[in-house]
Amino acid sequence: MNILMASDICDLTPAWLKERGVRAVLADLDNTLAGYRANEPDAAVALWMAALKEAGIALMIVSNAKEERVAAFCAPLGLPYLARAGKPGGRGMLEAVKRLRMSAAETVMVGDQYFTDIRAGRKAGLRTVLVNPRIKGFWFTLRRLYETPFIAGKAEKL
Ligand SMILES: [Mg+2]
Repeated sequence: MNILMASDICDLTPAWLKERGVRAVLADLDNTLAGYRANEPDAAVALWMAALKEAGIALMIVSNAKEERVAAFCAPLGLPYLARAGKPGGRGMLEAVKRLRMSAAETVMVGDQYFTDIRAGRKAGLRTVLVNPRIKGFWFTLRRLYETPFIAGKAEKL
């Protein structure tokens, strides 16, 4: 299955997801939904979350970060989450899918890093979307350069 590439997580609109039979989104936290250490989503992400909820599409955060960091972001939003998820291992992904009572086929994994988020999603047999980070800096450019040969031939623009 190809890796989809999107510039922004907000491009995954409820209509786009529904058309593809997606009923659940697993999302990485840091630099996918929010900048590092940001304890709340920015306005665009907050609107995207509300639209998903309205459409009945489940959202769960699957992060390798500490419980404390992930809970601080998710609790005020009432979002389910899995911290210390062990990406790029696929086990956390499967656990998240199970908790949401979804199947792998109707779940998509979204993240900003190929070597953790995308590999984990693919191991679990999920569709994957690689997004540009919310805050794009020098390290992003460098990392994407490094990731490119691994993504090549598997990627498709959203
Ligand atoms: Mg990340």
